[in-house]
Amino acid sequence: MTNIRATNLRRVHRRGATEIVALDDVSLDLHPGEFVTVTGPSGSGKSTLLHLLGLIDNPTAGTLCIDGVDTAGFSDNRRAEFRRRRFGFVFQSFLLLPGLAAWENVALAELLDGKPLRTQRTRALALLDDVGLTDRWDHPPHELSGGEQQRVAIARSLMADPEVVFADEPTGALDQANSVNILALLRQLTAERGRSLFVVTHEPAIAASAGARMISLRDGQIADDPVPTS
Ligand code: ADP
Ligand code: MG
Repeated sequence: MTNIRATNLRRVHRRGATEIVALDDVSLDLHPGEFVTVTGPSGSGKSTLLHLLGLIDNPTAGTLCIDGVDTAGFSDNRRAEFRRRRFGFVFQSFLLLPGLAAWENVALAELLDGKPLRTQRTRALALLDDVGLTDRWDHPPHELSGGEQQRVAIARSLMADPEVVFADEPTGALDQANSVNILALLRQLTAERGRSLFVVTHEPAIAASAGARMISLRDGQIADDPVPTS
């Protein structure tokens, strides 16, 4: 089970002579099975934090430990392995491939990895069942609603049975009713599996609907966290 500890994380972007401090002195622990939402205005550093914790980006300063091991020493391969095997990702824009059926989108990474078609297809169909798309398994994305496309992306994020699911504005393209449902579904599926869920959303009402530990960011810093880091 994955324990993530961020200590004094800082991320600075340089644009010519200008420095943009996207994240500043952020510390938090993400415990196994925990459900955390991160809210805050646009530009407050939410995506930056998700990218750092998910090993998509590197901090300018500070440390990120996974299960007590400092990730600064991880090779690119090790980081990629984490992103593919131990983490799942859901993004606002779904990122489904247009020419592929729902089940093929769900199974693609595993199939490209050389895993057998039959077992991966069975697993993809079971996950589509879990997200309520039993009847849509063979449809390409353009035949699915936004909410349905995000359900496919959620099924895909769970394909490798990840220990942590990271979702960046997963409901950003959906209406309010769909948003609440999608977040509840993400929580249900990760909780059933004992997995952690880390969700970024700029809509506090959506975050509050789901019963998470709600962290809020402001200007790259933690403004509020009900579970202060020891
Ligand atoms: P949020 O997800 O909360 O909207 P971000 O984490 O995307 O915020 O961005 C935080 C700040 O960092 C913003 O001011 C943004 O413009 C800046 N930023 C993010 N990525 C880059 C980048 N690649 N280059 C320069 N500035 C960036
Ligand atoms: Mg963002």
